[in-house]
Amino acid sequence: MRKFLLWFLLLLTLAGCRKIDPAQLPSATSVPQDTSLEETADTASTTAPPLETPAPQSVTISMVGDVLLHEPVTESGHMTDGSWQYGHLFQNVQKEIEAADVAIVNQEVILGGRALGLSGYPNFNGAFEVGDAIADAGFDVVLHATNHALDKKEAGVKNCLEFWRANHPEMAVLGIYDSPETRDAVYVREVNGIRIAILNYTYGTNGMTLPAGSSYGVNMLEESQVRADLASAAAQADFVIVAPHWGTEYTLEPDASQKRWTRIFYECGADLVIGTHPHVIQPVEIITGEKGDMLVYYSLGNFVNATAETGSGIANRMVGAMAQITVTMDDQGSAYISDYGVLPLITHIQTGPGQITTYKLSDYTQAMAEENEICKSDPSFSLKYCQDLCRKVFGDLSY
Ligand SMILES: [Zn+2]
Repeated sequence: MRKFLLWFLLLLTLAGCRKIDPAQLPSATSVPQDTSLEETADTASTTAPPLETPAPQSVTISMVGDVLLHEPVTESGHMTDGSWQYGHLFQNVQKEIEAADVAIVNQEVILGGRALGLSGYPNFNGAFEVGDAIADAGFDVVLHATNHALDKKEAGVKNCLEFWRANHPEMAVLGIYDSPETRDAVYVREVNGIRIAILNYTYGTNGMTLPAGSSYGVNMLEESQVRADLASAAAQADFVIVAPHWGTEYTLEPDASQKRWTRIFYECGADLVIGTHPHVIQPVEIITGEKGDMLVYYSLGNFVNATAETGSGIANRMVGAMAQITVTMDDQGSAYISDYGVLPLITHIQTGPGQITTYKLSDYTQAMAEENEICKSDPSFSLKYCQDLCRKVFGDLSY
């Protein structure tokens, strides 16, 4: 099995559709030890069965960006029979979500439910049924540390946590908490024998604050706390993911703050960083140094949105991405990234119940692009526009 994995990785590298970091292969001598494919085929039929070598254990991880519930997105879930449902938001990427061992989503706005009044920009509040759709789509982890976490103050956080606990207790809810103890317990998920820790923070909460003594409610990018959490995560897990809500909105490049935090995450032993908040995609980078390699997705952009803004650059907000990473355990018991890539996504806006949705760029057509109502806000939107943006930001990682 090991041999097949290595050849598979080599073929993928040659094909150029995914990035493999050769330094991340289990050992530099592993590939030459494998004979050619023909030799393997020739000898296979004349020799005894190969010794049983246990297959290396792997975990696949996927993550999507901001589920940004502008009013048209919320309204798209209000069906003609009066019910509320949001399965349409995820239905065209559900296969990819379900395929991942660990699927993560950034829930940009609080899900406080209708009792607090559903609302869009600037103080958002989403319906609980969005959470039902997230669970039904196959997500395992929902991130709530965002600048909109306190849009409905403490009541929003409380309602949201109670919703998840009562209706989807299996969902890992990160970034908002109702006690210091739950905040301090680093989330670790073990899959196929590999322990994965996930930490979620936000740079701020749009000036909203919690009552004195309840600052644990939203996980903030506070340096001493982040360093302590990462030390704890590294001690408990084989692989550490940080999901920061950071950066400058609508910019296609990481800013100085993102670079600074990236250095801190690296120093503290993080293996993978997946960022959100800019509402547009940003590059993917490998940070190398004495502590090995760390992979950074600076921003996955929006998973879904329906901004009311108009003008040049608005089309960028329709392009998001799913990060896809495979983590493998080597012979020495160290987890490493054996494969990674991005799957570009497009928010498709049409008015009417169940009409707003997200497609894979690979499934999108120019005819569909022409029907996307974002064209009224930014006429530059087209299939080629989206393809060019992905190529510009992701280079040959995009496929
Ligand atoms: Zn945000």
